[in-house]
Amino acid sequence: MKIITRFAPSPTGYLHLGHVYSATLAWQAARESGGEFLLRMEDIDTGRCRPEFEQAVYEDLAWLGLEWTHPVRRQSEHFEDYAAVLSKLDDRGFIYPCFCTRKEISAEVTESESAPHGRQSLVYPGTCRQLTDRERQQRFERGDPYALRLNMVNAIASVDLQSLKFHEQDKGMIRCDPARFGDIILARKETPTSYHLAVTFDDAIQGINHVIRGQDLFPSTHIHRLLQALLGLPTPGYFHHGLISDTKGRKLSKRDKDATVKSLRDYGYQPEEVLKMANYG
Ligand code: GLU
Repeated sequence: MKIITRFAPSPTGYLHLGHVYSATLAWQAARESGGEFLLRMEDIDTGRCRPEFEQAVYEDLAWLGLEWTHPVRRQSEHFEDYAAVLSKLDDRGFIYPCFCTRKEISAEVTESESAPHGRQSLVYPGTCRQLTDRERQQRFERGDPYALRLNMVNAIASVDLQSLKFHEQDKGMIRCDPARFGDIILARKETPTSYHLAVTFDDAIQGINHVIRGQDLFPSTHIHRLLQALLGLPTPGYFHHGLISDTKGRKLSKRDKDATVKSLRDYGYQPEEVLKMANYG
């Protein structure tokens, strides 16, 4: 099978060795199968993304020799597409506006690991799901800010949960259990799409048949698989690879300045050396 895969960084910092590892795995899988390696800028968080980081992604990948198929898909140029997807879900009663503040929610709920990258986030207790049309109208009229949430109960009721599975390389078929994430956010006022919605839609629109990304995103795949079922989108195969850790055994992040490709280039390392560091530790 020709593997059509992608590397999808968020330009909120410089690429580090963990990104290089991920990009190399994807690039190799595409190359070995005669497929394609696509590049996507996950720049929906326009407040945190910076043009210089995006520019550095292009420069670092080119320097490493990980050439990609053009054009690059920039999510910030597709907010209208995500809005159309949201309105489709809305028409079928799968989303509702939520006016709760983070503070209000944390007063009520327990913690879970539903956010991308395992960040601690809250399972929403569904307070605003209960609002009447009249109450909603009043809040809209008052101009209260709101997010759009997935009505998880309605969503799950509309799919065949038994067949909600995805294929994980080296593990086989994984049964999905999206209910544990609760009514996840699909859009916010300042960011009109969430990571989950944009990534699911884009993987489909870009024809991705194999997703290669870090293990920290494994839980998110349960949500992506549900969204695929709701939207009638194809399900790619998945490979969630292990994460590179720093000298203290913690996952590398954009805060680890010494491990950025940019700093390694500035120290005078050659591309082969950086590829080796990322792929063989
Ligand atoms: N944008 C995510 C990141 O920078 C990756 C998302 C994905 O590969 O699905 O970690």
